[in-house]
Amino acid sequence: MLIVMKSEAAQNDVERVKEKVRSLGFVPHEIPGAQRVAIGITGNKGGLDPNLFLSMNGVQDAVSVSKPFKLVSREVKQEDTVIDVGADRIGGRELTVIAGPCSVESRQQILETAEILRDMGVRFLRGGAFKPRTSPYAFQGLKIEGLEFLKEAAERTGLHVVTEVKDTETIAAVSECSDILQVGARNMYNFSLLERLGELRKPVLLKRSFAATVEELLMAAEYLASRGNYNIILCERGIRTYETYTRNTLDLNAVPLLKSLSHLPVFVDPSHGTGRWDLITPMALAAVVAGADGVIVEVHPDPAAALSDGFQSLRPDKFRTLLARLQELAPFAGRQLTLAPSFKISATN
Ligand code: PEP
Ligand code: MN
Repeated sequence: MLIVMKSEAAQNDVERVKEKVRSLGFVPHEIPGAQRVAIGITGNKGGLDPNLFLSMNGVQDAVSVSKPFKLVSREVKQEDTVIDVGADRIGGRELTVIAGPCSVESRQQILETAEILRDMGVRFLRGGAFKPRTSPYAFQGLKIEGLEFLKEAAERTGLHVVTEVKDTETIAAVSECSDILQVGARNMYNFSLLERLGELRKPVLLKRSFAATVEELLMAAEYLASRGNYNIILCERGIRTYETYTRNTLDLNAVPLLKSLSHLPVFVDPSHGTGRWDLITPMALAAVVAGADGVIVEVHPDPAAALSDGFQSLRPDKFRTLLARLQELAPFAGRQLTLAPSFKISATN
């Protein structure tokens, strides 16, 4: 249920409603809005009677939320969620690019990549230190050492770090060295991990699992929000279909769909979504036209030598061209590409 407060309601009225919700054994979630406050109610004790709240001071309406996901739904919050990461913002009018290698492979590799990206005006560096690989014999990441290299890269370049958190045991270590915690496709259903990340306030980039429905992705996001963390970025990264020319099928339907069902920012990962470097640029551009708030792209200084996902990583020169095209396209999609202040990218220099 959602309690909509009157625009003139006092904070005292809001507190009284929250207290009442608690006394009934449910959890209140205050959702500030541009005009008025709303209070989302969650809990698993069955239905609630709106009349319990309608007569309270400051309450305008009490409506039931029809979707199984509540706090992340547009029904509960109409305005787009905008997430602050340092001085940068994700969502709203921003078009954000997260770039970097699939895995942190060495100090030299991640520092070099971070410097290349910084010189193009990019603000967000990706790189996996704890890699959840399908094969136990594949490169598993540099782990703690990889995190330290990411931290050093961030200190040297001012870039924000996005890196995957694979399990509950390493949350503290990963959190300490990153600005956005990535939950990978293999972990979208790891509810213990989601619950723990819900207790933090650090932004989470939540990737859709290979065979997850859009509703399941939103329910995973609801796990985070129900514990108080609303700093969630949803990420479409391709789903498994019968097609074999591509690694996954990038479900661009999901972008406008998620944007209409939820107030959260939506990103697209055309690297994993296609599994082919030559398809990254067209699909990244298509993602923006479909309404994505950003893209996350694998970029490697020498893709042929990459320890993971080199075949779906762009070389820096190709990435620069993508960035230039995104910058050109952004205004047509009602957006502005987030680059370092006054940075104008050009495809040639
Ligand atoms: C990754 O980003 O490198 C990754 C492993 O992604 P996903 O979880 O989407 O497969
Ligand atoms: Mn990868």
